[in-house]
Amino acid sequence: MACTCPVCGKQTAHVGTLFSHLLNIHDRGHEKWLESYCVKNSINFG
Ligand SMILES: [Zn+2]
Repeated sequence: MACTCPVCGKQTAHVGTLFSHLLNIHDRGHEKWLESYCVKNSINFG
């Protein structure tokens, strides 16, 4: 299933690729989105 980055609109092949993109880009907007996503879904990236 294709995923689109909610921050910059980049197309990724699947959700794993989308998370790699979010984790690797180290951009303030992406970090903020990831933080709120993790809080909302109770995900702890350690
Ligand atoms: Zn992005």
